[in-house]
Amino acid sequence: MTRSLFGGLYLLLFSVAGMLYGQDILTPEERQWLADQPVIRFAPAPNYPPVEFFNENNEYQGITADFIQIIDQQFDLGLKLEIVQFPDWTTVVAEGRARRVDMWGAAEKTAERSEYMQFTRPYIRLPAVIIVRSEFVGEGIEALEGKKVVGIQNYASYEHLQEKYPQLDTLAVPDIETGLRMVSYGAADAIVASNAAAIYYIEKNGLTNLKVVGESGFEWSLRFAVRDDWAPLLSIMQKGLDSITAQQKRDIYRYWINLDASNNRSSTKDYLFIAALVGLVAILLVLFSWALRKRARLKMQRLTQRIEEQKKIEKELKKLATTDALTGTYNRRAILEMAQIDYQKCLDEGLPFSVLMIDIDNFKQVNDQYGHEIGDRVIRAVVNVCRDILSAKNIGHIGRFGGEEFVILLPMIDQEEAYLVAEQLRECVEKESIQCAENALHFSTISVGLESLKHAETFDELLHNADLAMYQAKNAGRNRVAIWHESISG
Ligand code: GH3
Ligand code: MG
Ligand code: MG
Repeated sequence: MTRSLFGGLYLLLFSVAGMLYGQDILTPEERQWLADQPVIRFAPAPNYPPVEFFNENNEYQGITADFIQIIDQQFDLGLKLEIVQFPDWTTVVAEGRARRVDMWGAAEKTAERSEYMQFTRPYIRLPAVIIVRSEFVGEGIEALEGKKVVGIQNYASYEHLQEKYPQLDTLAVPDIETGLRMVSYGAADAIVASNAAAIYYIEKNGLTNLKVVGESGFEWSLRFAVRDDWAPLLSIMQKGLDSITAQQKRDIYRYWINLDASNNRSSTKDYLFIAALVGLVAILLVLFSWALRKRARLKMQRLTQRIEEQKKIEKELKKLATTDALTGTYNRRAILEMAQIDYQKCLDEGLPFSVLMIDIDNFKQVNDQYGHEIGDRVIRAVVNVCRDILSAKNIGHIGRFGGEEFVILLPMIDQEEAYLVAEQLRECVEKESIQCAENALHFSTISVGLESLKHAETFDELLHNADLAMYQAKNAGRNRVAIWHESISG
């Protein structure tokens, strides 16, 4: 409420200022460029609060969202942003690289990303801190040697960690929330993450057994990034950023992060709150064990129950780390790990091994026509069809490779049989429909690339070939299975 009032006030002040001085921060060419642009596909980091994130209602929010709103309204840019929500930052980066995304809101500039994106000057700086369980003793990054340290996949902070501290046992997780849970439940020892984002998720998940043990030496300098062949947009965003006043910046930061004195107080308050909670839990535990002592039999029963719960949590956690949230299948990391093991077994024992790369055809149209949620349902429906067929035959594993791409491993299945399986998947997907609108059914098709083990190729080679074959299936008109052969070239 207050924020929208603020927003309204800025808008008013600046339109009045604009009218008085009649100035436009953009050149006529830049205005024209904006007018000519049908849409700017903008992909935020989906879960990087308070910088940017999607709330429970899938609304885009955070510091960057406020910056964009002010820039857009103050200068009457009429930015035609199509905000695209991806499951994780890795996908955001990949989509940017593939030119399916035109702009990022809060990205660290790296050499690799600079090959296809241009960056504004930084407008937010955030330190990355080290978070551990409360019982952890030691300080600073040196204390983490021999411990399992998680970072967020494709985040510059994680790359920094791997480069600067090769002696650490590092592991990438898809997002901060997963990493914090792993540390809290004991599946990892520490996480390197932004302090502000960590506090947000610690509160959200009630993870009261965590603490900060120091800075990681890494600081995010976050910038807007636009595709590198769109120079006018870069200049527009930079001018917009330059024109935001120091007061406006302070207001935004104060709202989202506690940076000044009052804010230290409130973060102390956060820790006091956590400490009080921990104290309360401790008192409850004492009372609990007192009661248990009185009734030994009950004690045994409850202890067993707790061990069972712990086991369940560990199992759930393991599942969480290897599962794709949207489809419930293996995530990319898990399916690739499993692939290496299955592949090596088949290679060692001289057994056949096949791999399928699957991509849903013309899927973007589904999103465009019916929206992202229906798109998600279509992805799930396709996966369910494939999964049902595989489990009825008791063969193979399916994993989500990226957006609407899937990998199926078929250990002990030769090319001929794998082709029949692939054809069956293709046919069954084609017949499956989902209700998209009141009177509209949508039928999906898939293109499948198939490659099988012949002469001890590495798994990566097999996967690469299956991918090439999949693109061949696309080029040949989609809704078909293509087998890799020597003449397909990358
Ligand atoms: P093609 O037949 O060539 O594969 O065409 P396509 O439209 O499927 O290809 P493209 O790769 O351009 O589009 C894939 C789209 O998938 C782009 C992206 O917006 C969408 N997407 C990726 N991940 C998700 C997701 O988790 N949910 C939804 N709804 N859409 C997603
Ligand atoms: Mg596709
Ligand atoms: Mg695709």
